Amino acid sequence: MESPGLFDSPADPEQSRHSELCQLLAEHEYAYYVLGEPKISDAAYDRFFLQLKCLEEEHPEWVTEDSPTQRVGAPLPEGSKFEKVEHAVPMISIESLFSNEDIQGFEARVLKGLAGETDVLPAYLCEPKWDGVSASLVYEEGLLVRVVSRGDGAVGEDMTRNVKAVGGVPLRLRGVAPSLLEVRGEIMIPTAIFEAKNEALLAAGEKPFANPRNATSGTLKRLDPSVVAERGLRLMAWEVARCEGGFDFKNHQEATQAMKNWGFPVTPYSREVSNADGMIAFHDDLEARREDVEYEMDGVVIKVNDFSLRRFLGSRARTPRWACAHKFSPREESTTLKKIEIQVGRTGRLTPRAHLEPVSLGGTIVRHATLHNAKYIESLDIRVGDTVMVRRAGDVIPQILGSLAQERSGKEEAFLWPTSCPSCGGNISVKGEHRYCFNMDCPAQIQRRVLHLASRQALRVEGLGEKAVKQFVDAGLLKSVEDIFSLDYEKISGLDRWGEKSALALKDQVEQAKSPDLPRFLYGLGIPEVGAETARALCQVFPVLDAFCSLAEKADAVEVLQSVEGVGEEVAQSILGFFQDPRNLAALEKMSSAGLVPQAMIQKKAIQLDGVTGKVFVLTGTLSTPRLEMKALLESYGAKVTGTVSKKTDFLLAGENAGSKRKKAEDLGVAILSEAEIYQRIES
Ligand code: ZN
Repeated sequence: MESPGLFDSPADPEQSRHSELCQLLAEHEYAYYVLGEPKISDAAYDRFFLQLKCLEEEHPEWVTEDSPTQRVGAPLPEGSKFEKVEHAVPMISIESLFSNEDIQGFEARVLKGLAGETDVLPAYLCEPKWDGVSASLVYEEGLLVRVVSRGDGAVGEDMTRNVKAVGGVPLRLRGVAPSLLEVRGEIMIPTAIFEAKNEALLAAGEKPFANPRNATSGTLKRLDPSVVAERGLRLMAWEVARCEGGFDFKNHQEATQAMKNWGFPVTPYSREVSNADGMIAFHDDLEARREDVEYEMDGVVIKVNDFSLRRFLGSRARTPRWACAHKFSPREESTTLKKIEIQVGRTGRLTPRAHLEPVSLGGTIVRHATLHNAKYIESLDIRVGDTVMVRRAGDVIPQILGSLAQERSGKEEAFLWPTSCPSCGGNISVKGEHRYCFNMDCPAQIQRRVLHLASRQALRVEGLGEKAVKQFVDAGLLKSVEDIFSLDYEKISGLDRWGEKSALALKDQVEQAKSPDLPRFLYGLGIPEVGAETARALCQVFPVLDAFCSLAEKADAVEVLQSVEGVGEEVAQSILGFFQDPRNLAALEKMSSAGLVPQAMIQKKAIQLDGVTGKVFVLTGTLSTPRLEMKALLESYGAKVTGTVSKKTDFLLAGENAGSKRKKAEDLGVAILSEAEIYQRIES
């Protein structure tokens, strides 16, 4: 019997472990990015990765170019430029079409072009048109050697270092590799990461990215590849541009399957159709699911499947005759900024809000957009009367991306902050990126605070809506938030649109609201940083109102507060500050002498609620309660809230302007509930 390995050079067991780890990690990446079926947990991946790194630190000579550790290289020095590279095969663009008639025209042109060549009707493949950064990836003998951005189609920039850090980019091809391969694909940022990044930029007073595409290209231009890795960019391959060494594909489907086998992520949304009707149906289906797809798309790409037919059809000056893009309705559009209004929030923060000439965006009419803060307006140079670009995506508040300075007539006016509060005429203070009116008697603030305390998530006084509260504040019946419990109902019955009966009904509601659950009341006080979820967590530790009121006497108040789940130092300081303020304590005193008795928190397990507990909910559209709070509320009854509608969804909670998710729920037969129906279930 031969002893194994006798004539081979005996492999160092550590070195075998090195190649084993490389293989294991590459397999996992393939399972995760291409198959969408991760086989090991993220924690296990990190562990293996660390082991590999340690081995390579001890044996730098073992490091291969395709080792998973080589994805994220060292940052380039400040001022480095990306080298210009000519594309071996130009990256041509395709024609954009906008209407169903255009698509019928495309089909007619293809058929006419093929007349005489074939009697079989051609098949077309429809796929999403991803809205990211297009790039070309070149592999030699299976190894990734270069990535070049589209650039002007003829010359792009070398982005190899950064693209190695993009999720799903194979460093080495799987299986039998061609001697030379050039694959085209789109690099994109997941929409969720884009939105979170923009929120963080705005919170820091910085200019946000205009759209996911800009966020992607901005990220790819960074000199430090670790930023690329952090942002979670992903690749989606869409075309084989060159392939040498014994491979021959008859059509797009074969080429796509080959890309998948080599380890490239390819689109999960693809349909073969035989005519314009099929193309239009795919376009409409995908557009309806736009909010549910993780990445931004701006339309559908339609390509003749068969490569020999493509060659026969050829190209016009700049675009091929065998493909087109059917665009979605735009998310960005230009319109006129009519005026900038200053809103005063309940904490006194002044927020500029744009009034726009109504414009249709992504299927809804947009009239207002947020302008965030002064720095935002300044950095974008937005003037009243300007033609501005507005973007609206999903449930995000519409935002102004910038102004078209070339369209100015000279009559536009730069925005100037008012020198005094538009509601009370009081002084304006600047704090960080924001401006505030700190006048406690400011009518707009009182109005906002009362509305918050009376809201569904707090005391639930339905009679105290927007109109009524404004009316009472204007009539001097509500001079502060605590007046809510000692309203003069006789005077109310004499107000416009009021009578004895409606005043009494309101009185009833207010009386009932005098014994709220403590967490609801605490939330209703509108302490900055304290949402419904935090309020509930706080009341587990401080079960009675007095426990909060005596916080100021405790030396370790901040630490005690921070022991509560979800409470960091900032939140703790905010709570302490609120209960240290003598005006707030006086207001609480006044409320309790008017009969307010918040109900102590009883330690209880999650309440079982038929039709809520154990059910899976998806939220969509505009709700009167903030999303996160509605989620927390449902979860407090043991429901699960997820992001996308699927067969597992029990209920879709649809607010106003519910779009694609509602359609999907209807298609899947998922029950749709209104916000009022949810409250009925909870309150019954
Ligand atoms: Zn004011």
